[in-house]
Amino acid sequence: SNIPKIVILGAGYGGILTALKLQKQLNYNEADVTLVNKHDYHYITTHLHMPAAGTDNPENARVNISKLIDEFKIDFVKSTVVQIRTQDKKVILEDGTLSYDYLVIGMGGEPETFGIPGLAEHAMSIRSINSVRLIREHIEYQFARYKREPHRTDYLTFIVGGAGFTGIEFVGELADRIPQLCREFDVDRSLVKLYNIEAAPSALPGFDPELVEYGMDVLTKKGVIFRIGTAIKECSPDGVIVGDGEEIRSKTVIWTGGIRGNRLIEEAGFETMRGRVKVDEFLRAPGHENIYIIGDNSLMFNEEGRPYPPTAQIAMQQGVASAHNLVAAIRNQPLKTFAFSNKGTVASLGKGEGIGVAMGKKYQGRKAAWLKKLIDLRYLFIIGGIPLVLRKGKFL
Ligand code: FAD
Ligand code: NAD
Repeated sequence: SNIPKIVILGAGYGGILTALKLQKQLNYNEADVTLVNKHDYHYITTHLHMPAAGTDNPENARVNISKLIDEFKIDFVKSTVVQIRTQDKKVILEDGTLSYDYLVIGMGGEPETFGIPGLAEHAMSIRSINSVRLIREHIEYQFARYKREPHRTDYLTFIVGGAGFTGIEFVGELADRIPQLCREFDVDRSLVKLYNIEAAPSALPGFDPELVEYGMDVLTKKGVIFRIGTAIKECSPDGVIVGDGEEIRSKTVIWTGGIRGNRLIEEAGFETMRGRVKVDEFLRAPGHENIYIIGDNSLMFNEEGRPYPPTAQIAMQQGVASAHNLVAAIRNQPLKTFAFSNKGTVASLGKGEGIGVAMGKKYQGRKAAWLKKLIDLRYLFIIGGIPLVLRKGKFL
């Protein structure tokens, strides 16, 4: 048939919104839409710091894709993409091949380790349901091990590398969980050390300084030990080397030092910066009118020439915009320029605590924590309507 084929790679914040909007806007037989994702569920990344620390169940951070999309309108393929072949408009999956007329790439980021020796091998990172199950189990196991070898206090030292939003949200949760673990395993709290190590001269570099100070104060009171202006230089099975050679011994390093785009994109021959493609104003890859790149895989600059940080917020807006432009392209109508509308940033600092800037106003403490919940509920509503809010909302 000559119905155009649209293939969407990745059902994250970007890809799921592209799919949902296409399903709504396309007329019957206007296009064949296929959505490919590694798992048959979508995960709510913005919630992953909780199951990683063990303050919530990982089940609450995922939703079956079949509950979100209309499978009469969109073909869902559970598979892993292994290669993108732009020269013959094909995507190679681990177990098959798809051909496309239009492609949307939204496969999310990967941890950026900047070539720091040992990090890729010995550190864990918060990036998926499986990765957070590993972190949670690993932390519990260290408490259990310590009981058998009480001289090994290094088992009770936990290192979080990077105090960006991911690092800060995670240490907030872990600081809440540690007293529970101490009770459960009958361990003296004063033996447990939770470090957050940050290379820049401040935690949350670039964020409102007053809120950063408030946040660090809250976390310090919960027992987080900050090492600011201190870079991780090396990681081994026995801990990390920081700054000018100091060793911190630990069996648990969680790397939250930044993310990059997906390696498959570089391998496909696109020009990239740290695995991300600088897209045009319509979200297309340069030189490829039929390929849209969204979310953490894309790179866009603001008026001051600075890259927008890779967030769920921008990924969602790009998902909506790419769907609009795909429909327009198929109908031979003019495309719309993408303009990011920044609603702000709100971060949690563990139970009942948070910091944020939203709609030009600053929030801290309980108010910020509520706002964070509201943002999460709004997301559930956008992707799954009231039923999803009722099913998952109470857990967020
Ligand atoms: P993702 O949401 O990462 O989705 C990518 C999808 O592609 C996944 O489903 C993945 O399984 C799939 N995939 C990957 N590779 C393949 C493959 N080879 N084959 C098939 N499928 C594949 N941003 C905010 O704006 N607000 C927040 O509060 C916030 N909190 C965060 C908290 C944490 C702990 C983390 C880690 C990030 C947070 N972020 C937040 C950032 C945000 O999660 C990302 O920017 C966002 O998820 C990017 O969306 P995406 O669609 O590009 O990719
Ligand atoms: P990030 O890049 O924002 O932060 C990484 C931090 O690690 C930086 O502060 C950096 O200076 C530090 N770092 C880098 N190398 C280091 C080293 N060798 N030693 C010590 N520290 C080092 O990464 P992230 O926190 O994972 O965030 C990724 C994206 O997701 C960002 O765009 C962020 O805004 C977004 N996010 C948002 C929220 C939220 O809105 N609540 C939560 C999590 C993540």
